[in-house]
Amino acid sequence: MNVDSIESIISKAEAMSNQHGKKLTPTRKQVLIAMLKSDKALSAYELADSVKKEFDRSIPTMSVYRILDVLMELKLVHKMSIVNKYVACSHITCDHKHSFARFLVCNNCHKVKEIMTNGSTVKILQGNIEELGFKLLNKQLELNCLCHECAG
Ligand SMILES: [Zn+2]
Ligand SMILES: [Zn+2]
Ligand SMILES: [Zn+2]
Repeated sequence: MNVDSIESIISKAEAMSNQHGKKLTPTRKQVLIAMLKSDKALSAYELADSVKKEFDRSIPTMSVYRILDVLMELKLVHKMSIVNKYVACSHITCDHKHSFARFLVCNNCHKVKEIMTNGSTVKILQGNIEELGFKLLNKQLELNCLCHECAG
C-alpha cells in the first residue's frame, strides 16, 4: 500500500476514533500502520516486531493485545479466528455500510482478502442455522484458502 493511501486511511481512522470518543494515540496509530503495510494477518508478536522495525519502538505484547482490542472495537481491525491473527480492515475509507464481511485466508502464508457481500449468503446460512435450533453469534465468514502464490 502506498504512503498516500496509508495517510488518508489514518486520517479517516482518526475521525472514526473521535466519533467514538476514543483517541488514536501514537502507539495505536503505529500498530495500525504496521498492519496496513502487511497484506497478511499478523499475530500480536509479529505486530510488536513490525512496529519495532518500522518505528524503532518496543511495545510489550500485552499492550499490543490491548491496542488490538480498541482497534477491533472501532472496526478498524478484524481478528481471523482460524489463524488467530489480526488484519486491518480494507474498507476503512469506504462510505458504504460495512455489513457482512467475508475473508479469504491463505492457510499457508496467512494472506487475507476482505470481500463485502450483500448479506444474502449470510441470511440463507442464518436461516438454516436457526432451523436447526442454533443462533449465529458471529456473522464474519472466514474461508480457509490457498492464495495464488501458495497454490502454484
Ligand atoms: Zn472490514
Ligand atoms: Zn468498501
Ligand atoms: Zn499464501
